[in-house]
Amino acid sequence: MTDHDHAADGFATRAIRSGQGFDPTTGAVVPPIYQSSTFVQEGIGGLRGGYEYGRSGNPTRTSLETVLAALEGGERGLAFASGLAAEDALLRAALRPGDRVVLGDDAYGGTHRLIERIHGEWGVRNTTVDLGYLEAVRAALSVEGTRLLWVETPSNPLMKISDIAALAGLGHEAGVLVVVDNTFASPALQQPLSLGADVVVHSTTKYLGGHSDVIGGAVVLHDGELAERVAFQQFAAGAVAAPMEAWLTVRGIKTLDVRLQRHSENAQAIAERLVGHPAIERVYYPGLPSHPGHDVAARQMSRFGGMLSVALRAGADAARAFAESTRVFQLAESLGGVESLIGYPSEMTHASVRGTALEVPENIVRLSVGIESLEDLIADLEQALDHVS
Ligand SMILES: *Cc1c(COP(=O)(O)O)cnc(C)c1O
Repeated sequence: MTDHDHAADGFATRAIRSGQGFDPTTGAVVPPIYQSSTFVQEGIGGLRGGYEYGRSGNPTRTSLETVLAALEGGERGLAFASGLAAEDALLRAALRPGDRVVLGDDAYGGTHRLIERIHGEWGVRNTTVDLGYLEAVRAALSVEGTRLLWVETPSNPLMKISDIAALAGLGHEAGVLVVVDNTFASPALQQPLSLGADVVVHSTTKYLGGHSDVIGGAVVLHDGELAERVAFQQFAAGAVAAPMEAWLTVRGIKTLDVRLQRHSENAQAIAERLVGHPAIERVYYPGLPSHPGHDVAARQMSRFGGMLSVALRAGADAARAFAESTRVFQLAESLGGVESLIGYPSEMTHASVRGTALEVPENIVRLSVGIESLEDLIADLEQALDHVS
């Protein structure tokens, strides 16, 4: 592929051009999908462009990994078959039996399950802590054997904001690796490596892909020994992003910047509208000045994103009725696509933590605000709230 270095370009230019040089044999503006499992050698060991076999590398995957690194400001991007596959490879690369992970008490449920139930079986221990209390984080990090601090902000579903720079500082004081799951913000809004984090992970299934048509994950970090170890996990365990998935994700990334602009505008307007609604007890959105994390969010994010949650005044039944009464917002798991989705966390995304200290209140409904016409979204939410008030 033919391309110049885009390191000095603006974010939206990098999203469209990094790793996307036109095809030199035909001039195709969009590089083809290399839907091939293997690559012909010029004599034994004579690899063309370094490609040998699709698990070790594929040009379409390289193009995704290049743009991911460019957007997060890392030197190395590694693309996986899912967000959890990416997390798993990172954890296996970074940890050994007996090591301890400190993670937020509202981390993505699948991340907690992976660390607790998969890595736990191999002797990795974990402590959950409220990342908003820096003294509690400092105390947790001081426990012998702690190697890794896992941060997720904004968190799910209550949109808690954690101070990445402060947490990275604490993590480094304690000599641990600081990882940020940047799925909810995306690099269009927040770039944790520039705030001091060591590693960024993504479920590219969400905003990066952006169209609810692909499952994928990524690890982005600075080059070096850990990057080599993650790359070895990717190659040797094999949970790689497939060519079609990588290509779809690259296509989605080209519009990341404009999508997040519209997601954020729509979510802000909806949050402001719902604040005064008689059926709503509370709106959880970092773009509201009343949100406890507003100031930190304003400092570390360029916009406040498309995710928000609401608490229904009338309780669990009202929340369920609301989630089942929208027409534009479709009732489904996941987030970050162009279409608006609505979810009932306590029985959907967070069903596995019901009855534990990590459970989500039963009157909470989560919205993934899409990029449809704002007036349609507002009218839809208002008609659905009429069913419950
Ligand atoms: C969805 C999600 C994941 C897991 O990603 P998959 O692609 O579903 O494996 C991890 N973290 C967050 C914050 C998520 O929303």
